[in-house]
Amino acid sequence: MDAHGLVVDLLNTLDVEAGTDLLDDAGTWATWCAEHQVATGNRMQARLVRTRLRAVVAGATWSGPAGWTVPVTVGPEGVVVHGRSAVEAVLAAAVQLTVTGDWRRLKLCPADDCRHAFYDRSRNRTRIWCEMSDCGNRAKVRRYRARHPLSAAPRRLHTNGRSGAGADQVVTGT
Ligand SMILES: [Zn+2]
Repeated sequence: MDAHGLVVDLLNTLDVEAGTDLLDDAGTWATWCAEHQVATGNRMQARLVRTRLRAVVAGATWSGPAGWTVPVTVGPEGVVVHGRSAVEAVLAAAVQLTVTGDWRRLKLCPADDCRHAFYDRSRNRTRIWCEMSDCGNRAKVRRYRARHPLSAAPRRLHTNGRSGAGADQVVTGT
């Protein structure tokens, strides 16, 4: 699995929208670890690592020593970080993403009812929402309703063919 895939998947073990947390239960956590081919390790530490990483990815300014260890192997190819347990593997992947400059592509959707983690593959790292067709549009509708409390939904302000004007022609009220 890609480094970013492993980190994103750990961040999404907390599902804000569904109100579920795979780390609440030893069984669901064991299943997650088996699917990702890592040893379960310490579940409470996994939760702490997830909490901190989610906060940082969401833009928190927390920083400082975390007291976590990442194993390395030394070989002909140099020094490589890796991990056997979930926490070690995720931290190793996070180190890798930091080194390659891709850490900042990890993001959390800003929608309060979503907070889904995703990897921004756009060239300039400009993606904001997890699914533009879903969360982005819902936010747009919410903003519209906040500005226009009496309207149920956005209305089309210009209609085709009215008094022969083009659809994009601005009506100035003359
Ligand atoms: Zn979202």
